[in-house]
Amino acid sequence: MPKAICFEQFGGPEVMKWMDIEVPEPGPGEARIRHKAVGVNFVDVYQRSGLYKVPLPSIAGNEGAGIVEAVGAGVTLVKPGDRVAYAGVMGAYCEVRNIKAERLCLLPDDISFAQAAAMMLKGLTVQYLIRRTYRVEAGDTVVFHAAAGGVGTIACQWLRMLGAKVIGTAGSEAKCKLARQNGADFCVDYRRENILERVQEITGGAGAAVVYDSVGKDTFETSLKSLSPRGLMVSFGNASGPVPPLDLLLLSQLGSLYVTRPTLATYIAQRSDLEEAAAELFGVVASGAVKIEINQQYPLQDAPKAHQDLEGRKTTGSTILLTD
Ligand code: NDP
Repeated sequence: MPKAICFEQFGGPEVMKWMDIEVPEPGPGEARIRHKAVGVNFVDVYQRSGLYKVPLPSIAGNEGAGIVEAVGAGVTLVKPGDRVAYAGVMGAYCEVRNIKAERLCLLPDDISFAQAAAMMLKGLTVQYLIRRTYRVEAGDTVVFHAAAGGVGTIACQWLRMLGAKVIGTAGSEAKCKLARQNGADFCVDYRRENILERVQEITGGAGAAVVYDSVGKDTFETSLKSLSPRGLMVSFGNASGPVPPLDLLLLSQLGSLYVTRPTLATYIAQRSDLEEAAAELFGVVASGAVKIEINQQYPLQDAPKAHQDLEGRKTTGSTILLTD
C-alpha cells in the first residue's frame, strides 16, 4: 500500500503522520503519478499550522516530480512513462497520487526529478513575481527579503540575469554571504542591521522601485518605507506571521505607493500561463543562469523534521523529500 504524510488536525510538525493510503484508478482527466521527489515549501507549514485553512484530514505538500503510471479517460497531455512535475496542488507528500493532468508539466531531459521538486513551486513563483507582478528591468533597484531561502535563492540569480540592482535581506552573516554569491549586490543581515537605514544608504535616499516581502508581520512597514515614490510593495508571504490590517492613508503619506498581495495559484490558473511560465523557468535553468540549490534532503517520512528545520530558519535554498 502506498504511504503518505497526513495530518488530521492543525498544529506543529508533530501532527504529521506517516500512514497507508488508498489510491484509486485515475478518474476522467486525471493521471496517477509515482513521486520520485517532493518539494518542501513554506505554504506547507501555513496549511499544516492552520494559518491557511484546508480540509481535514489532508495530505501535506504542494509540489512534486515523478513518473506517470496511468491516465484516466480523456487525458491526452501525458501518457504512462512520462517524466512530469507540478506545483500548487495539495497532497504531494506521498508515494503515489492522482492529479488533474492539466496541472502537470513535462520535464525536459536535462532536469532531474530532484531539481524539479526543488524548483517548480519556488521557480514559478519567482517567474510571476519578477516578470509579471512587476516586470523588473535592468537597473531597477529591488529589495528581496529572505534572500537565502528557497524562493530567494532562485530570485537573486534570476534578478542578476535581468541586470537589476538587488538588495537582499537574510537572518545571518552566512546567509547574507550565500545571497551575495547568488547575485544580491548587497545583503542586509536584518537580525543585526536596520533594513531601512541600509536601503536609504545604498540608494542614496531614493528607495527601491519594488520590494518583495515574504517575511510579513516583522518587515511589512519597513518594506513600505523602503520604497521610492510610486513604488510597488509585493507582500507574498507570512513567514513571521500575517500582516496586520493596512491603513491606506499610509500609502499616500509614503508617496502614492502601490501594494499587491499575489498568490501563485492565480498566476498559473490558466493552462497557457502555466506552460509559458514553466518554459521560461526551464529556460533560465537550462541556460545555467539559475542554478537550483538543494541544500536539504530528507526521506519522505521525515517530513516533520524538514518542517522543524524550515520553520526554525535552519535551511537555505531548497528542501526536498525523497521517496526511495
Ligand atoms: P524559505 O526557504 O524562504 O524559508 C523562509 C525564510 O523566511 C526563513 O529561512 C527565514 O530566513 C525567513 N524568516 C523570517 N522570519 C521568519 C520567522 N519568524 N520564522 C521563520 N522564517 C522566517 O521558504 P520558501 O522559499 O518556501 O518560501 C519563501 C516565502 O515565500 C514564504 O513566506 C512563502 O510563504 C512565500 N511564498 C509565497 C508564494 C505566493 O505565491 N504568494 C509562493 C511561494 C512562496 P532568514 O533566517 O534569512 O530570515
